[in-house]
Amino acid sequence: MDLTNFRFDVDADGIALATWDMPGRSMNVITVEVMDELEEILAKVVGEAGIKGCVIASGKEAFSGGADLTMLQGLGRRYQEACKALGEEKAMETFFAESRYLSQLYRRIETSGKPFAAVINGICLGGAFELTLACHYRIGVSDNDKARVGLPEVKVGLFPGAGGTTRVSRLMKPDQALQMLLKGDRLRISQAHKMGLLHAVAPRDELIAKAKEWIKAGGSPKAPWDVEGFRLPGGLVYSKAGMMVFPPANALYRRETYDNYPAARAILQSVYEGLQLPFDRALTVESRYFAHVLRSPEAAAMIRSLFVSMQDLNKGARRPAMPPSRLKRVGVVGAGFMGAGIAYVSALAGLDVVLVDRDQEAADKGKAHSDSLITSQIKKGRGTMAERDALLGRITATPDYNALAGVDLVIEAVFEDRAVKAEVIKKVQAVLAPDVIFASNTSTLPISSLAINSARPEQFIGVHFFSPVEKMLLVEVIKGEKTGDKAIATALDFVRAIRKTPILVNDGRGFFANRCVLNYIREGHLMLAEGVPPAMIENVARAAGMPVGPLSLNDEVAIDLAWKILQATKKDLGEGAVDPAQETLLDTLLNKEGRQGRKNGKGFYDYPAVGPKRLWPGLADLQPVKLDPDTIDIPTLKHRFLVVQALEAARTVEDGIITDMREADVGSILGFGFAPFTGGALSYIDGMGTKAFVALCDRLAAAYGERFEPNKLLRDMAAGDERFYQRFKPETKKAA
Ligand code: NAD
Repeated sequence: MDLTNFRFDVDADGIALATWDMPGRSMNVITVEVMDELEEILAKVVGEAGIKGCVIASGKEAFSGGADLTMLQGLGRRYQEACKALGEEKAMETFFAESRYLSQLYRRIETSGKPFAAVINGICLGGAFELTLACHYRIGVSDNDKARVGLPEVKVGLFPGAGGTTRVSRLMKPDQALQMLLKGDRLRISQAHKMGLLHAVAPRDELIAKAKEWIKAGGSPKAPWDVEGFRLPGGLVYSKAGMMVFPPANALYRRETYDNYPAARAILQSVYEGLQLPFDRALTVESRYFAHVLRSPEAAAMIRSLFVSMQDLNKGARRPAMPPSRLKRVGVVGAGFMGAGIAYVSALAGLDVVLVDRDQEAADKGKAHSDSLITSQIKKGRGTMAERDALLGRITATPDYNALAGVDLVIEAVFEDRAVKAEVIKKVQAVLAPDVIFASNTSTLPISSLAINSARPEQFIGVHFFSPVEKMLLVEVIKGEKTGDKAIATALDFVRAIRKTPILVNDGRGFFANRCVLNYIREGHLMLAEGVPPAMIENVARAAGMPVGPLSLNDEVAIDLAWKILQATKKDLGEGAVDPAQETLLDTLLNKEGRQGRKNGKGFYDYPAVGPKRLWPGLADLQPVKLDPDTIDIPTLKHRFLVVQALEAARTVEDGIITDMREADVGSILGFGFAPFTGGALSYIDGMGTKAFVALCDRLAAAYGERFEPNKLLRDMAAGDERFYQRFKPETKKAA
């Protein structure tokens, strides 16, 4: 056999070992070549009478991350081309055959008549986990804490279409199976074992021997569903038990997705229909849904933004070429709400942290935040006391600026006040070595205007975190006028070190994310002022794809902050920059009613001591008119929410804040939850087409005001029916 991606040996007992170890890659992935070689291995095992069975293992630290999603992107592209060349029916036939190739290959392994055992030594996800599910025996590693198994396809708009949906729903009860498939969680080995997804666990060194023993002991080459008399673990779909699961599951699906995610719907359909069919028919049904989902615009958009672009950014697509910055020790100045969070995520990533505040008490309070966060993780079984002690041991809380001597990077998160920041910059730089980068976490002050306080503006940069820091996956890195390449490279390296995704944007009021998200919140305010019922505002926003309604979001970020921003906008840009209806609403809420948001338990919502939050009934009195809900056009409300943000994203491109379209898309999803199924704020426009988008903006502008007026860039693009990803092709440079 001529194998490149596998090693293949047969031992004296006639047991084959196929070791998956792709050259030049740190992680195995399923590619066309891998599928071809698996096919060869299968033929060899089946064809040689002397081979009793085969163990599939990995030669790498992980088993495999799954299918190469760019290969699936290629399938979609070929389908579009074939449609043009051969017509839709012919193109669909080829596409269907190609998209179910892996599913059929796995089924051939399963029905080969020889026993196959899979050794899961580390991370094993997606199509790779589906490969192991098609093996007759799965053994997982017990002493590798990083090992996870799972089917996370739904997170990129796909679903497990290589038999995963069909097999998982026959290995466990349908409610558990649906939960696993719809959430796409990565499971620890012990958990997967308990759930019945694995047959056994063993320490790393014993895995292969144990798998071989299983074959030697006469392990059966038949999957449970291929054995006469197989019964579904949860009983028949049309049974009392089945009816306890599927109708509520449908309702839950609707509640969680508002039917925006074709992949999630296809999972439900595949499981529900598949469980009523014999196994091979069920696989065909799964394949049909897979082919359908793979061609959906949602899958294309999500694969591009949430997998390809995100991976490019994480691998340093925007990083200037220079040696890696070896960050060991960082300084965080300001141990308040944000600084405490930044210290925690840094220490969690193994960095030493010097956490400085005005006095010891304030610094200690910031460090205590780390204690409470890690303690709550431990309570959930996600950490140990030893890890907690080590983490806290890495944080030095002090009021002494001299302790910053020797750090590799400083992040400032003191009050949002120019004078305070200027003083801190001077004090910090007095103790830093001349080549150390200084980053500010300011949310509103332009970086270049802060950099004037620095003796070394080329080493000054913005690193804008989102709250809560430990949860939010995005960090905006802001390049000031004079920021140099070393500062950019260091900031990007830091963001990666703490396992977040960076976007690199140019300097300007509100940078990127806040500009868009403030428009979203304002739209909610204006709808309220127009007389739209508050509950409708919140629900429609979620139905449009946003994770939280604009009124809830405002309560989280605080109403006094929204008020402050409004006043600052008026001061900087003039009276006309602020909508009087929004100002009146916030003025009444905050200044007359004392409602600051969640922080004082009173905002757009009430926060009772027990029970869930509730919309404040007094909101009705703040509405000068009340619209009859039956006369309100829901699709228009949905459009308003998404258009007002996407339009702002387009303006940030025209203003030169965003220079790489991938960053607007990834940033909008990770930073403020812009409807992920669209692929992000600019993909939303591209998906609709700039012509249609501009026409929609014009209609909205005529009805609701000039905030919907398209900018010049969009009009130019619409004239030529251009897309953002055409006009501004992302750099293809891959990681250094
Ligand atoms: P905060 O008031 O909770 O914390 C500020 C901390 O800075 C306080 O602990 C204070 O004692 C300390 N401090 C003030 N002067 C100091 C000095 N001279 N030396 C050392 N410490 C000093 O504020 P926050 O919400 O954490 O915001 C901090 C920064 O982060 C601001 O620039 C803010 O705009 C930015 N930011 C905030 C958010 C958010 O959601 N709160 C999000 C992104 C960025």
